[in-house]
Amino acid sequence: MAVVKADGYGHGAVPAAQAALGAGATWLGVAIAEEAIALRAAGIEAPILVLGWTPPEQAGEAIAAGIDLTVFSLADAAAYRGGRLHVKVDTGMTRLGFSAAEAPGAVADLAALPGVEVRGIFTHFAGSDEDDLSGARRQLATVQSVLGALPFRPPFVHAANTAAVFRLPEAHFDLCRAGIGLYGYGGPGLRPALRWLTRIAQVRDVPAGTGVSYNSTYVTETSERLATLPVGYADGLPRSLSNRGAVRVAGCIAPIRGRVCMDQTVASLAGSPDAKPGDPVVIIGDGQWADEVAATAATIPYEILCRIGPRVPRIYLRA
Ligand SMILES: *Cc1c(COP(=O)(O)O)cnc(C)c1O
Repeated sequence: MAVVKADGYGHGAVPAAQAALGAGATWLGVAIAEEAIALRAAGIEAPILVLGWTPPEQAGEAIAAGIDLTVFSLADAAAYRGGRLHVKVDTGMTRLGFSAAEAPGAVADLAALPGVEVRGIFTHFAGSDEDDLSGARRQLATVQSVLGALPFRPPFVHAANTAAVFRLPEAHFDLCRAGIGLYGYGGPGLRPALRWLTRIAQVRDVPAGTGVSYNSTYVTETSERLATLPVGYADGLPRSLSNRGAVRVAGCIAPIRGRVCMDQTVASLAGSPDAKPGDPVVIIGDGQWADEVAATAATIPYEILCRIGPRVPRIYLRA
């Protein structure tokens, strides 16, 4: 199952889905019904599971579009008539799901509802990416005990996210729900799928003692050559990179000077003094991939990728 929620982790849900299906994925996973309906509207006919909550009033449209829904409450299930359902079991994430104790009874009750098909049962790991996998293994043991107590085994048992794909083969069951790994992060031997580039809007030389960007949080100590970039936090460049992050110009580090603004950012050209307006600038790419940018911004690559804004055009390169 290729997880293409949040616009394919920022890469574009439809192209990501098409690429994954073309490469052998058989299912798609999304967070909300609107995302699944948008994939159907783009002509994608593969099985799709909504991994999160579907409000009862949206269920009819999703079910009519042949979209599988996640269920974790019998009250919601009353509105999921005619649906193919995957029962979510909370085995330790403490986020969404029937408890392990409730799950076998819930499966029996759901299967008894007219027109409902219990097509799957699944859980989600809280820490399959941690050095210590004991928590994940405890969750897996809970899954096994739930499976043993079920009145029947649904066709699709699933648990693994990307980290578990690589690190917990016992968790593979019938489907693996891979998200971040598809985009090149979160496992060994992966190549990032996305580069994020901008261009230099203006180059300027300023004297020592010049305040840069809002509130002059950076003041030049010597004369400095600066590049103004037409990208800001509205595009997903974290404001927390103000005076901390860097971009790459002509292969050299160009530290961000002063505050990242909504639409513009200033960087030092000390390392690449020959750069000109119009030249390309790497935000994510060779020299600094999304995991590094994320570390500087005190977040994770998931957030850096999925927040790349709609103003940034996506350009797809095919070999
Ligand atoms: C997002 C998500 C995934 C994918 O997780 P990755 O770590 O990106 O592989 C899998 N399952 C569920 C329920 C999710 O919400």
